[in-house]
Amino acid sequence: MVPRKQKVGTVAVVAHQRKTFGGGLDELRRLLADEGVGELLWYEVPKSKKAPKQARKALKEGADLVLVWGGDGMVQRCVDALAESGVTIGILPAGTANLFAQNLGIPEDLPKAVHIAFHGESRKLDLGKVNGEHFAVMAGVGFDAAMIKDADRGLKDRLGRAAYVWTGLRHIRGELVHMDVRIDGVPWFEGEASCLLLGNVGTITGGIEAFDDARPDDGWLEVGVTTAKGPIQWARVLGRMTTGRSDDSPFVRMTRARKITAKLGAPMTYELDGGAKGTVTELKAKVVPAGITIRVPASTDTSGNPEVTTSTGEPADATRS
Ligand SMILES: [Mg+2]
Repeated sequence: MVPRKQKVGTVAVVAHQRKTFGGGLDELRRLLADEGVGELLWYEVPKSKKAPKQARKALKEGADLVLVWGGDGMVQRCVDALAESGVTIGILPAGTANLFAQNLGIPEDLPKAVHIAFHGESRKLDLGKVNGEHFAVMAGVGFDAAMIKDADRGLKDRLGRAAYVWTGLRHIRGELVHMDVRIDGVPWFEGEASCLLLGNVGTITGGIEAFDDARPDDGWLEVGVTTAKGPIQWARVLGRMTTGRSDDSPFVRMTRARKITAKLGAPMTYELDGGAKGTVTELKAKVVPAGITIRVPASTDTSGNPEVTTSTGEPADATRS
């Protein structure tokens, strides 16, 4: 590889120590040297919870580009810390769940991901914010929250993404909770529901395309409520999601919003980007338009859709399951 002699500014790495990827952090250092990185800030954390502090430190030290080494949880923590700061993020998808990277067409290939981080396009992407914390992929209560809560760490590591889906199916017994959902201040749904999902990108879990028309740069969040009850109805919802359009399902109601509030009839655990957060009876969510700058693959697509290479594109690497 020919080193580029362009000015790359100050680069920071925030890495989850336990996540393996390519030839590991040693290979990353070599690749960064090849890119001609002068000043390098290096932070390693034993768990993603410790990442925000390091990300903020990187910002304070003058990082222009922050490379995040980890999965969705790690990316979510860093994105939350760096939202609206003006810094650019490069994602090195080292986790078992890399849905954000997958949606953006960033492959699970270390040299390629590094190349994108340095030579890709800087895109301003929307974030969602729920109860004060930013997310990049999705947030919600019900189906996914229960799914993640049940997927214990060991299972998640052994089985990866599939564990999300299977523990979810095991869990689903149609626990309906009264939900009062308002969209941009207007009542939108009131009744019994099993799950409320907010999506920033289309593929939100287990390779399932839940929001067909989601774009992370349109200033809107996708909103879905499912009223499915019991394993048979749920199997139908999942079947529709994998084979057709989600909003064809009689048990799914979907729209698009800038601001969402949901009052829950019973306390539910909510999640952001695959991580279980608190147990609450109210969710206050909004879109944060252009809240973060991410390096994405340079668009070679000169037809039709120059703005987006994301959820509507079909990156060759995204067809794993
Ligand atoms: Mg959107």
